[in-house]
Amino acid sequence: MDFDLPPDDDPRRLAVRDWIANHPDPTPTDLARAGYTAPHWPAPWGLDADPEHQLIIDQELASIGIDNVGVSIGLGWAGPTILTGGTTAQQQRWLPGILDGSEQWTQLFSEPDAGSDLASLRISAVRDGDEYVINGQKIWSTWADQSQWGILIARTDPSSLEEGDRRQRGISYFVVDMDTPGIEVRPIIEMTGGNHFNETWFTDVRVPVDCRIGPENEGWRLAKVTLGNERLSLSHGGVIWGMGPVSDDLFAFVKDELGSIDDPVLRQKAARVYTEKRLIELFGLRMMTMALGGNDPGPFASIRKTLADEHGQSITTLMKDLRGAHAMLGEQNEHTEEDDVWHWSYLFSRALTIGGGTSEVQRNIIGERLLGLPKEPG
Ligand SMILES: Cc1cc2nc3c(=O)[nH]c(=O)nc-3n(C[C@H](O)[C@H](O)[C@H](O)COP(=O)(O)OP(=O)(O)OC[C@H]3O[C@@H](n4cnc5c(N)ncnc54)[C@H](O)[C@@H]3O)c2cc1C
Repeated sequence: MDFDLPPDDDPRRLAVRDWIANHPDPTPTDLARAGYTAPHWPAPWGLDADPEHQLIIDQELASIGIDNVGVSIGLGWAGPTILTGGTTAQQQRWLPGILDGSEQWTQLFSEPDAGSDLASLRISAVRDGDEYVINGQKIWSTWADQSQWGILIARTDPSSLEEGDRRQRGISYFVVDMDTPGIEVRPIIEMTGGNHFNETWFTDVRVPVDCRIGPENEGWRLAKVTLGNERLSLSHGGVIWGMGPVSDDLFAFVKDELGSIDDPVLRQKAARVYTEKRLIELFGLRMMTMALGGNDPGPFASIRKTLADEHGQSITTLMKDLRGAHAMLGEQNEHTEEDDVWHWSYLFSRALTIGGGTSEVQRNIIGERLLGLPKEPG
């Protein structure tokens, strides 16, 4: 870490404190109106806040229990893409509902044969007057069953599929109203017993042309904006993507419930998990140093995401080990997050090294973009 935290009397800090004094229990709408939901977004949506200003706002909001670094597809993925490629009318149409959280979003990118190799996607969008007609299938669409809007990438130039390395040239980027006739969302039940993601089928789904973001056949550039933001969001804090317990909870459990760990092998595992946690925290500070110095932490998010996702699996596994036989016997029917957050997280943490780009793909990014290794053969 190579920065000083802005002092207590920093005028930007005092301004947030003033606002909090007038809004001691702010609603999502209050936060959105003040520009505090996404302070780094340009006005009128945010405050054009640089990383330091953003850090101040995050710290002050954290002091009243508001976590401003949540994982939401609308705020984390769709919003930045609409800001980058959307028209003013499109921004006015979708950003308010994203900022105040009143509208939920899903991401319709992956297909059964296009996950890591996303550019081989096949779902088609054919122009018909003022509309596109969409046909095909998406999979692993998180919260598609409860979302109002979806960000969708589809092939508008079918001939591009034959173009090998240049397949991404025939892809366009759309926003889709999930209530449109012809969209069918089928739940996928996970090993947690819950339903986090879905298959989404499109049969002659008509999407107005003004729901296309950016030019036709140039959606790949925007898809990369979405994926970069997704990687960054999912690398924050990292453990179970903010949906489950964190390492601190584990160490509080050890302190409060066990006092100490007598078994030497478990003690060694705990030391390893603790070391991982510290490394991730320090790495976060290094990324913050980069951002405050005006450098884009970009591909470094791949390192933090990989460390944090694997850490999520090691802390939940250690918790199972610490609980002994009870961990196997007591919770057979308790699969929901509310019933037993540790058990749920143990199962769900397996998904983290896959979602948002697998750990192997993150290692490719680290190798190519940070270490300068040659690109893997196509
Ligand atoms: C919790 C979760 C939430 C998700 N949410 C969404 C969502 O909301 N919307 C959405 O569109 N998708 C979503 N996904 C899908 C996710 O993006 C894909 O699962 C992921 O990109 C991997 O694709 P795949 O499952 O097709 O596996 P594949 O790409 O088929 O990979 C199979 C295996 O091969 C390895 N592999 C593939 N290519 C390479 C390579 N070049 N080098 C080395 N190894 C490689 C992978 O690492 C993996 O181990 C989600 C997935 C999860 C687990």
